[in-house]
Amino acid sequence: MPANILATNRISLFLIFLYLSLLLLRRQHQRKYNIFSFKSYIFALQNESARKYVLHRKRVEMKLGIRPILDAGRPKVYIETYGCQMNVNDSEVILSILQDEGYALTENIEEASIILANTCSIRDNAEQRIWGRIEQFRLQKRKRDGVIIGIMGCMAERLKDKLLEGKVVDLVAGPDSYRNLPEMIREIKAKQEPQMHVQLSKDETYAEISPVRLDKNGISAFISIMRGCNNCCSYCVVPYTRGPERSRDPFSIVREAEEVYANGYKEVNLLGQNVDKYFWKDLEDADHTVNFAQLLEMVAKVDPGMRVRFSTSYPSDISDEVIETMARYDNICKHIHLPVQSGSDHMLEKMRRKYNREWYLNRVDKIREVIPDCGITTDVIAGFCGETEQDHKDTLSLMEQVGYDSAFMFAYSNRPGTLASRKYEDDIPYEVKTARLNEIIALQNRMSLKSNERELGKIVEVLVEGPSKRNPEQLCGRASNNKMCVFPNGGHKVGDYVMVKVESCTSATLICSLV
Ligand code: SAM
Ligand code: SF4
Repeated sequence: MPANILATNRISLFLIFLYLSLLLLRRQHQRKYNIFSFKSYIFALQNESARKYVLHRKRVEMKLGIRPILDAGRPKVYIETYGCQMNVNDSEVILSILQDEGYALTENIEEASIILANTCSIRDNAEQRIWGRIEQFRLQKRKRDGVIIGIMGCMAERLKDKLLEGKVVDLVAGPDSYRNLPEMIREIKAKQEPQMHVQLSKDETYAEISPVRLDKNGISAFISIMRGCNNCCSYCVVPYTRGPERSRDPFSIVREAEEVYANGYKEVNLLGQNVDKYFWKDLEDADHTVNFAQLLEMVAKVDPGMRVRFSTSYPSDISDEVIETMARYDNICKHIHLPVQSGSDHMLEKMRRKYNREWYLNRVDKIREVIPDCGITTDVIAGFCGETEQDHKDTLSLMEQVGYDSAFMFAYSNRPGTLASRKYEDDIPYEVKTARLNEIIALQNRMSLKSNERELGKIVEVLVEGPSKRNPEQLCGRASNNKMCVFPNGGHKVGDYVMVKVESCTSATLICSLV
């Protein structure tokens, strides 16, 4: 063969080899970074958040500790957390920030140099509990010099300097102020003066802070995917205490999921006030966006052995794409928490919820059509302003029509500053509210039992959480649809998946045998 043809063949072979190698490399990167399109891939190589994500992968690979540092030599911080899962995750962020400042966690308030309460304002009784605790913190202050008492979170944001009036609290920090804590603590020590920071932010998501995990069992971790809320349900204080809605960059969310999975966790809970509104847009490339369904898929792909849960869904925003994504991935748990609040169109309108009864029931039908075994749970408020007996009956009938698996049920609590508080009279007498709430609870208990009876004979996969509370000889864990199962201890460990058969039930628990 002439030399020039031989050389051309060699060059062609080399080019083909180079092309295939590049394809392979791209595929590996796409898998590694959860990036699917070529454009996104190029973007990921250039983008700042993607670079941070790559750095964080190093942390994951090194399995850096994500549990509290329990170092006897460090000054101690004690944290009490009230309210929702989001507050639990915020306490984990707070601890992470304070650990970097040299503090270590203690569960013994008597040895703490900083005592923090991460608070909730959603109902009046939540705030009353905190006022009671502040009085008890006063005793700690009397016992030891230099103890710093801090109020964090929603109550700090709502009441601001009112919390300083009793001369017990030294530190008031709203939900977007936690990065300022080290400086505030230094200022308190230097000036012996209380410090307050309650500025809400349009973009704070604490994206790159790795929370120090505070859960007990080490298998289920909370991950905040967004903060704040742009809805304005007339009864709700959250938009005022937690500020506007903002979505966290998806790379940092996937990174955090990988981090907990690498540290032995088997389940992540993606948290937001309205997860269906999750929407991230790259500021450098407006065409690169991620919605909640796409985020769910990215997180589900971290590992098929890692379960994914999320909360809370909003009835007018939950999309077919989200429901279909759930159906496509076995590791996305088949449970949707879909708060209805009321079954009466008149009340829903007054509550400024953005759906009516018919819309809500259609969404439930869609969920059941795509995911027949999906657990559906809800939140209900009894005795909202002007609620008639008929409105209340509409709530009961809707609950029966849906047949919820379980529910969180509340008596309406007037929150100063909200639209309802300004516009409507809190006119349902306490006794009537309580009677209606009790009726709602009794109905839900019957429905929970019925829902559990429908599980009898089924074989389900359970993630072991630990010993059963009632009978430590037995183990307990949740099925994908969020039902709590109790079963004999077959030598399984916390974090194992176990197949069990539902033999009997109560309204709260499925009693199972091993299969
Ligand atoms: N973002 C979620 C949603 O809209 O469904 C719920 C968030 S909120 C922290 C949790 C629940 O508290 C609400 O669903 C509602 O049932 C209840 N809630 C909120 N404000 C309330 C109030 N003023 N009185 C009684 N219950 C209230
Ligand atoms: Fe409150 Fe409504 Fe936002 Fe939920 S969606 S946090 S109830 S304002």
